[in-house]
Amino acid sequence: MVETNSTEVLVIGAGPGGYVAAIRAGQLGLDTTVVEMEDVGGTCLNRGCIPSKALIKATTMAHRVGNAEHMGIHADPEFDYAKLSRWKDRVVRRLTGGIGKLFKANGVREVNGRAEFIDDSSVEIFDEDGNVTERIEFDDAIIATGSVPTEIPGFSFDADPILDSRDVLNKTELPDSMIIIGGGYISLETADVLAKVGCDVTLIGRPPTALRGYEDDLVKPVMRRGEKIGIDFHFGMEAREWWENDDGTVTVAAMPVEDEDDNEFREYTGEEIMVAIGRSPRTDTANLEAAGVETDDWGRINVDDQLRTDVDGIYAIGDVLGEPMLAHRASHQGVVAAEVIAGMDSELDHKTVPAACFTDPEIAVTGMTEDEAKEAGIDPIVGKFPFRASGRAMAQDETDGFVRVVADENERVIGGQVVGPEASELIAELTLAVEMEATLDEVAETIHTHPTLAESVMEACEKALGRPIHVIDR
Ligand code: FAD
Repeated sequence: MVETNSTEVLVIGAGPGGYVAAIRAGQLGLDTTVVEMEDVGGTCLNRGCIPSKALIKATTMAHRVGNAEHMGIHADPEFDYAKLSRWKDRVVRRLTGGIGKLFKANGVREVNGRAEFIDDSSVEIFDEDGNVTERIEFDDAIIATGSVPTEIPGFSFDADPILDSRDVLNKTELPDSMIIIGGGYISLETADVLAKVGCDVTLIGRPPTALRGYEDDLVKPVMRRGEKIGIDFHFGMEAREWWENDDGTVTVAAMPVEDEDDNEFREYTGEEIMVAIGRSPRTDTANLEAAGVETDDWGRINVDDQLRTDVDGIYAIGDVLGEPMLAHRASHQGVVAAEVIAGMDSELDHKTVPAACFTDPEIAVTGMTEDEAKEAGIDPIVGKFPFRASGRAMAQDETDGFVRVVADENERVIGGQVVGPEASELIAELTLAVEMEATLDEVAETIHTHPTLAESVMEACEKALGRPIHVIDR
């Protein structure tokens, strides 16, 4: 006889959406249960944001040391990749272990297994062998089941040489060459790591340029740096088929998509193929139909500003809602959903969800671009400050890129873009400015520590106001 338990809040999935929702619900005094079928921390902590950033940091560090002759540093770092991979795993374990402690401290019950709805107020929990271990009745449920990598027809992840980002992050030994299919941030970040470790990387992307959706002047420095470290980029090419060669290598055949008259396949050969063309909401694990939760044509669950699905008492958050699939968005939604369940008046009322690509150099954006502002009928005021004029950027030997601020006619900051060192950190100040509707003057008049990269945000605002100190106002 399977035991039946009850809970006020049931959270399905313990990624950055689900685990944050569970902690906040527990904090608010709700009796909370979180169910996770793989690893607490979800994609982000185990096979996404954190391991990728650990590898990016380590390989970039080594690359910089190995390319600092002009600074009088003579070094040729060698990689013990197995050891680097173990270090990255320890970082992940420390973080995921911490979540377990936070669950305990906030009175959250953690259940290991896969939750499947029986109806709109109960689930069954399945273990790895498919046995039901428990039934749980709930007052409210939060679906936070995340996303999975999207497959290209003919490039099944079940085939040995076809890898997804998780397979690559889990490697303890790297191949000499890799073909990466996809031109988004996951492909570019991975290409960067592999190239810096000495792997020959060929990157094939269907769009005409990398990082579609980001402005050209943000992407250019990344492409320049990528080419410099030896990444062989091929954009405007659609991967159509692949085969294994007698010598154990694999070949991908791709067709140009831009030129209708060009029907000639191009062939690229390497040891393995990584496919990272995007991610799809994960809606096939929890038997959503039994609860009456529907998905749209893109496989997403639709919610309102309080994260409610169409079914009373069932909420959904994070990647399962579709783009933008970002950890901080999932976590923010988790907090809002928990607060709504607790009876608070919370809703998604933010002005912006910032985004960052941890490429070399980094790109980060928030709010509106200049073009988006114009499309919205705004006559934008724009200020741009190049890192080559920043003392700190020079002292760090990282002068590629710029900070750009976009303001409306009333000089209120409505957006910003950064490409360059620590862009992912610098974007926080611009995001705060957008959320608080700060004026250019308020940011410019805030005293920024010297010498810092953050001064470039202040300088971009000064430039927008026509009173820059460290660049000529033209
Ligand atoms: P997930 O993190 O996917 O968690 C969902 C969890 O639900 C999983 O643990 C899964 O096992 C569990 N689950 C699913 N179904 C069930 C079920 N029926 N029962 C129980 N458990 C279930 N985002 C950023 O913001 N910054 C980055 O730098 C970044 N880097 C990334 C790098 C890579 C290589 C990848 C792949 C992703 C990256 N992301 C990044 C995206 C980020 O990881 C996701 O946006 C984020 O993890 C989404 O959180 P989530 O909670 O919605 O889903």
